[in-house]
Amino acid sequence: MKDLMTRRGFVRAATAGSAALAAFGGGSMAPAKVAGADRLALLGGTPVHQGGWPGWPEWRQAWEPRVLDVLRSGTWSCCGGGGQVADFEEGYAKLLGAKRCVAMASGTTALITSMHVAGVDAGDEVITSPYTFIATYNTILMLRALPVFADTDPATLTMDPASIESRITDRTRAIVPVHIYGLPCDMDPINAIAKKHDLAVVEDACQAWLADYKGNKCGTLGDLGCFSFQNSKHLPVGEGGAIVGNDEELMDRCQSFHNCGRSFGDFQGSGCFTRGTNFRMNHYQAAILSQQFDKLVQETKIRQANADYLTAELKKIPGIEPVRSPENSRAVWHLYAFRYDPRQFNGLPRDKFHRALDAEGIPNGGGYSEQYFDGLLDEAIASRGFKRLFPAERLKQYRESLEELQGNRQVCETTVAIFHSLLLADRSDVEHIVEAIRRIHTHSAALV
Ligand SMILES: *Cc1c(COP(=O)(O)O)cnc(C)c1O
Repeated sequence: MKDLMTRRGFVRAATAGSAALAAFGGGSMAPAKVAGADRLALLGGTPVHQGGWPGWPEWRQAWEPRVLDVLRSGTWSCCGGGGQVADFEEGYAKLLGAKRCVAMASGTTALITSMHVAGVDAGDEVITSPYTFIATYNTILMLRALPVFADTDPATLTMDPASIESRITDRTRAIVPVHIYGLPCDMDPINAIAKKHDLAVVEDACQAWLADYKGNKCGTLGDLGCFSFQNSKHLPVGEGGAIVGNDEELMDRCQSFHNCGRSFGDFQGSGCFTRGTNFRMNHYQAAILSQQFDKLVQETKIRQANADYLTAELKKIPGIEPVRSPENSRAVWHLYAFRYDPRQFNGLPRDKFHRALDAEGIPNGGGYSEQYFDGLLDEAIASRGFKRLFPAERLKQYRESLEELQGNRQVCETTVAIFHSLLLADRSDVEHIVEAIRRIHTHSAALV
């Protein structure tokens, strides 16, 4: 399998992998050698795992009546407030222990809204994690602000708090920590730095529904928290998102901004309207989301138990380093990730490890790459707007600074990631993941 650069690419590949495997288990295509149990599947042995993996997302017939009620009512949009959207907002806030929630069209629009409301403006800088889905970069650029990257801690895959302060300039307005793969960032030092420098904290919790840090849920730890309900996510509805927060004024502003700037609550703006746009969610989407809360809670526990099992077993294999989370925190694993050291596998390159693992019936990928070299930042800083907003010297220095992200480079080059639906399989299937990696480790010399 080729390196998987994007989240959606990953899902596609993982799904294609499962489909291929389902066919594989069907009989005629199965390898003839039953005696190949000890040989790598890539070299003609019998795959450790056959028969596919749980698919994603899932639909339940029991959810249909409430959705049909909305469709038949003709009130599909939530422009006037109330209804399923308001129920969802109340329920989601409660689920996370937040005071308030605003339902959004997507995680992307949640990020744009939150940063705008938190005061990020054209010509500002926002410190964020380079190791993330590309939407985090894009939303900062949409606000005509510069995404300045903290380094990534290779042990946690999240923003290294120790690298933040050196990136602060007089233009810095906000910090956007990303709880990537559902791994909680170390929020205490991040919040302390933000407080010291008077910066807003907007959490990108778009992969971290119900992740926990020191007794509080990710997304409720900064000023505002952003969530995504896109198809691949743990709480899916095709496209959708939410902002949660405890600050009434900020939340009033989010409500207003996402509803064409109509005044809301105590936030009256300049008369009737303020600047805003339409980033609303539909009632039928909210009806689908609210009915998945219990499922999300149950499945989170299953993923966590299987991830704990994998972590305990995989760390016994030389060259496999499971990810560490901050003390007193609990990850939710949008992808299950670990770091791979080829030196312990007779120099087997990561690409070939991916393929060998895939052949054993375990679809997997490489996570995110160094996306800041993909051209989108070059395009942005060469644009008329950015050249008008930032001194040439700052943009030059910014471009050069991207070379300094050594921790992130290491993570991009060594991570192996497995899609979350595999963590929902029976334990006997999850055991195959360990068995397959152990088999590759034992026989790695035969592949190089
Ligand atoms: C999914 C995701 C987003 C964007 O969410 P959409 O709903 O797809 O717009 C942003 N950040 C991260 C880390 C994500 O995983």
